Amino acid sequence: MYNITLIPGDGIGPEVTNAARKVIDATGIKINWEIQNAGEQVIKKYGTPLPNHVIESIKKNKIALKGPITTPIGTGFRSVNVALRKELNLYANVRPCKTFKGVPSRYENVDLIIVRENTEDLYTGIEHMIGEDAAESIKIITRKASDRITRYAFELAKKEGRKKVTAVHKANIMKCTDGLFLDTARKAAKDYPEIQFEDMIVDAMCMKLVMTPENYDVLVMPNLYGDILSDLCAGLVGGLGVAPGSNIGTDATVFEPVHGSAPEMAGKNLANPTATILSGVMMLKYIGEFTAAASIENAIKEILKKGKMVTCDLGGSTGTEQFADAIINLMK
Ligand code: NAD
Repeated sequence: MYNITLIPGDGIGPEVTNAARKVIDATGIKINWEIQNAGEQVIKKYGTPLPNHVIESIKKNKIALKGPITTPIGTGFRSVNVALRKELNLYANVRPCKTFKGVPSRYENVDLIIVRENTEDLYTGIEHMIGEDAAESIKIITRKASDRITRYAFELAKKEGRKKVTAVHKANIMKCTDGLFLDTARKAAKDYPEIQFEDMIVDAMCMKLVMTPENYDVLVMPNLYGDILSDLCAGLVGGLGVAPGSNIGTDATVFEPVHGSAPEMAGKNLANPTATILSGVMMLKYIGEFTAAASIENAIKEILKKGKMVTCDLGGSTGTEQFADAIINLMK
């Protein structure tokens, strides 16, 4: 029996995490899901969108499956997602992007992994107004975090039989911060002579990813570029509905889709749960339940390939729940 924290989240979060939970439970793996609410809905009750007991639950169980959590734009509370990553030292955000047969996309052979540094850069939230008409934000890059993330990317490449690591940066302009990131990545690369290493300026990277995404394997980068390129790469393989992810940490690991809470879709049984279910597949592999992971993955592949029982983002009309049921039926 595994104890795993489940955070349904906001917007479409409860629907997609419920679908993922149903599918995972249908594999027969025994999981005691510890449901913990965070986000907009709990502010009234606890005075914070991230109550301490949620963090304690993840620390205790070491593993969580999480739905997206809304962050108000411009004003309001700070991101729960960023706070969680900082609090639990979830330093590596790992987001695989792979084309699935049958999923509408302009590309056929995308198979890359984004490794995003998750704890620093402009996401430390150190910013302030200077008078009424200027604002300042501080970008933090340290050698320690840059070394940890680039080595994580190389180790992942080794483990997964990948051939190349590309470090993404803007060191031509931000010579100190991104310069430090790049210098650290170049030094780490020397310890992995069997893996090809290259670096690329983030703007050029965007163009190359749109033109020839099949040329890339493992991409490692600071927080902000990782956030943006994650959505770009999700777009290469059919959209956010099919893009899973994990946040690897020293104290715990949190699995969550790349997408946000999509409030306009919430409560309508329209959201594609694939990204969250695939995040669950990553979680099952992480805990060593490879047979259960493969049975879910194969069922998803088959459904997507047929293209009939898919959600509206992929051109179908199947509901979130019905999609999950179709996976469960196939697994049987
Ligand atoms: P979003 O990812 O919620 O939506 C972007 C687009 O993708 C929308 O058109 C949406 O309908 C579509 N989409 C997203 N997930 C989908 C799914 N599962 N199935 C079908 N279509 C899907 O991004 P946004 O609108 O920029 O953000 C909404 C909220 O989510 C914001 O408050 C943002 O801060 C938050 N957010 C949270 C996380 C997280 O919790 N990790 C990540 C990103 C955004």
